[in-house]
Amino acid sequence: MSAHAILKKIYGYDQFRPGQEEIIDSIVSGRDTLAILPTGGGKSVCYQIPALMLPGTTLVISPLISLMKDQVDALTRLGVSAAFLNSSLSQEQYKNVLRRAFNGEYELLYIAPERFDAPMFQQLTEHLQIPLIAIDEAHCVSQWGHDFRPSYRQLALAISRMEDRPIVAAFTATATKEVAEDIVAMLNLQQPATFVTGFARPNLSLSVVTGVHKQDFLTQFLKERAEQSGIIYAATRKEVEAVHERIHLLGYQAELYHGGLSDAARAEAQENFRFDRTKIIVATNAFGMGIDKPNVRYVLHWQVPGDLESYYQEAGRAGRDGEESECVLLFDASDLFIHRFLIEQGLGDEQRKAVQASKLHEMTSYCRTDACLQQFIVDYFGERAVEPCGKCSSCLDTSEKVDRTQEALMAMSCVARMRGRFGVTMVAKVLKGSSDKRLLAAKLQSLSTYGLLKQTSEKEIVDWLNWLVAEQYLQLSGGQYPVVTLAERSRLVIEGKEQVWQRRRSTVKQLLSNSS
Ligand code: ADP
Ligand code: ZN
Repeated sequence: MSAHAILKKIYGYDQFRPGQEEIIDSIVSGRDTLAILPTGGGKSVCYQIPALMLPGTTLVISPLISLMKDQVDALTRLGVSAAFLNSSLSQEQYKNVLRRAFNGEYELLYIAPERFDAPMFQQLTEHLQIPLIAIDEAHCVSQWGHDFRPSYRQLALAISRMEDRPIVAAFTATATKEVAEDIVAMLNLQQPATFVTGFARPNLSLSVVTGVHKQDFLTQFLKERAEQSGIIYAATRKEVEAVHERIHLLGYQAELYHGGLSDAARAEAQENFRFDRTKIIVATNAFGMGIDKPNVRYVLHWQVPGDLESYYQEAGRAGRDGEESECVLLFDASDLFIHRFLIEQGLGDEQRKAVQASKLHEMTSYCRTDACLQQFIVDYFGERAVEPCGKCSSCLDTSEKVDRTQEALMAMSCVARMRGRFGVTMVAKVLKGSSDKRLLAAKLQSLSTYGLLKQTSEKEIVDWLNWLVAEQYLQLSGGQYPVVTLAERSRLVIEGKEQVWQRRRSTVKQLLSNSS
């Protein structure tokens, strides 16, 4: 049967989602494959269909025990023979599954990575015909991923010891270059075909809101969405409790969810939300792993997360049913301090801290850009550019565009003269004409750009420089204490081929229709 026929006959879907067919073709043709798909993008079909097309038993490595059970149950309902091996099984059950696996009874066998090295498993691979090993959450193999698991390192070893090396297909939703390269290297993928696809979510309206009083914003926001189900993410337990309290005072019911609560309390909150007994849940990022509630109409972020992967994963819990939904991020630059602090104080070597710091910069650029937010995200995840979405806070911003080419040239010329040795703050001080001690010590007052923007406040100059970074006229590099240099795009401006236009923002008005 063709892949398409299986999709129709077994799953009952009419067509493939973007990328699915290409990924399946690549695997079935025998190539190692790296597929980068967003959560909810439909990756299970991408290894389940090949498993049905190839002879023998496909192994699926997955770290999420509850997800394994869900998938095996779903496959069984569809009439596909599948089972799992993980720590939730009793000794008896475990043996039973193994025995049947030895008989070649399963088309798919899900295995937790910790099991991969066990001698029993070694035996399995010797006795079974294994055409394909699908590795879910493959970023767990990478130190650069947000969820490194040493057991994933054993995978590569175990696979390389297998007599007939099967096709290896790795799946992840984490798309940064470091992680992708790590996956290929660590899992020893042989000339893999790589697919990045499906990150655009056309039913989501993305917004960034800056410069509001958060409490007032919340009041109005909830008033207009009283009937809707939504998730509100806040950065800390304390913050979650404060927002939760506030919502109660406003007269709404809301659940509370964070790591400081008992398992029972968390389970109850999650269930109440999932089954629509409570419309709103206020949570830290501990909430969400594995929940798949279809009708979440909005995800509101009270604070900016530390990187775009986390943000998009959390925001992406809105609109899983394909209906129009909103993802709103309240951005206040002072919320960045906590992230910087955590990076500084965190474990990990300098290189890792530098990676985290540059992820935080990307996240902030998302908050500051005038470009289409959906495009910004898709671009970040390495997918080919898509059309502007037409519904994000940038696309809907009808505020006046101001020609700021002159100020941009001043900033660029100052940055060029500082020769990549200083950060945004020092560049701002020079433009301001400050008599800061460090500035004077470095003799920066002798630069011709010193004091060029002396009418403007230092804070505004910093904002201006950060905006130029967000729009990719300038770039930051060097990790935790980044220095600023000219980016490729600045050349067009310097050569007079491009003008710099900046919007006066009016985001809040669009989101709060009745506030006028
Ligand atoms: P993830 O990528 O997070 O593992 P899943 O594989 O669980 O996502 O798929 C997410 C949802 O999309 C599931 O409900 C799945 O049945 C559905 N889905 C996957 N492929 C298709 C398709 N081609 N057409 C319609 N629905 C699909
Ligand atoms: Zn847009």
